[in-house]
Amino acid sequence: MKKAFRTGDQTLIREINLSIILNCLRSTAPLSRSQLAQMTGLNKTTVSSLVKELLDGGFIKEVGLGNSHGGRRAVMLDLNPNAGNIIGLEIGVDFISIILTDFRARILWRSKRETDPTQNQDTILNLAIELARDARAAAGPDGDSLLGIGIGVPGLVDSSSGVLLFAPNLRWRDVPIKDVFTSELGIPVFVDNDANVAALGERYLGIAQNTEDFIYLAAGAGLGGGIVLGGKLYGGVGGYAGEIGHMTIVENGELCNCGNRGCWETLVSQRAIIKRAQRAAESHRESRIVELCKGQMEQISISTIIQAASEGDETAERVLEETGVYLGVGIANLINALNPALVILGGVLSLASEYLLPAIERTIEERSLAWPRQTVRIMASSYGSDACVMGGVALVLHDILRRPTLAT
Ligand SMILES: [Zn+2]
Repeated sequence: MKKAFRTGDQTLIREINLSIILNCLRSTAPLSRSQLAQMTGLNKTTVSSLVKELLDGGFIKEVGLGNSHGGRRAVMLDLNPNAGNIIGLEIGVDFISIILTDFRARILWRSKRETDPTQNQDTILNLAIELARDARAAAGPDGDSLLGIGIGVPGLVDSSSGVLLFAPNLRWRDVPIKDVFTSELGIPVFVDNDANVAALGERYLGIAQNTEDFIYLAAGAGLGGGIVLGGKLYGGVGGYAGEIGHMTIVENGELCNCGNRGCWETLVSQRAIIKRAQRAAESHRESRIVELCKGQMEQISISTIIQAASEGDETAERVLEETGVYLGVGIANLINALNPALVILGGVLSLASEYLLPAIERTIEERSLAWPRQTVRIMASSYGSDACVMGGVALVLHDILRRPTLAT
């Protein structure tokens, strides 16, 4: 048992070190081996052996000699842009978003379609497959360059089988997403919960690159959470951890799609924020929100609320502040329970972070214990509404770097 733990840790450390080297090259290339050692703090022997693995796998390449600083001129390294392309796909509750990137994680092609959660499952899945085929076509005529597709879905996922077990807001159960896409595309397919996927994206490519313990909050139609502890996504016994949106915050509160009442999600999801704005606008007809939606309260959207707030509308600011307080209550619970270094506001939340953060910070100050609070930062996602699709790209990178040997 002990040995298994040790092996597991070494695999994780190697994977993290490989991703650190790739990220250094992604942000600052070309670099020599000794510059990589300086930047990463890893010793030169470790850097040389990791670099050799990445060279053997064709993920990086040597690009000539750098400037000499008195000694021998060093061989410079860069990512190999031809190492392959990756598809990131998000099946949201009311949209499908997809990107194609190169190995640098630069977006080469993208598409987004709105969907209606009342449409039947096959219609939505077929549209997702059609978009994935478009992405494959955008990668080149034969799709040979594709390293894989990473898919985020809004619900509980058995990530080993790639089956979506339950998506409350879509009302889907037991959908074999991985099998469906594997037979349609013939490339490696990885599927996980949308918030987990986005968390992995921040870990590999975003603001959590140097953070081993953090929580990603994804507010959209629902509220999901991706929990990374000790550098790894925390799944719990069955892989279902992170359903923080269904923590009870109000004992007899509003009915949630999961069947429980007063879930955190019923207070801070996109729908909850819009409902709060509709109520506020009804009693404050002078609000800019009413003007922006031309008196059609059902037309109020998150962007209407943010626009009104940005123009100094007090009603909109209050709506977001109240949302920030409810966010702060849940985040304070998470800080006390998990002592993370970072909490990332993602999804819709990241778009309104400027207005939410002051109330969140104040509530955390009031409600969390001083010790875990001292070391926590609350930040908006680096990718906004692209967090999940970028996470899909990270899901594929994660699989590649976990392989015992990178050479194919
Ligand atoms: Zn719930």
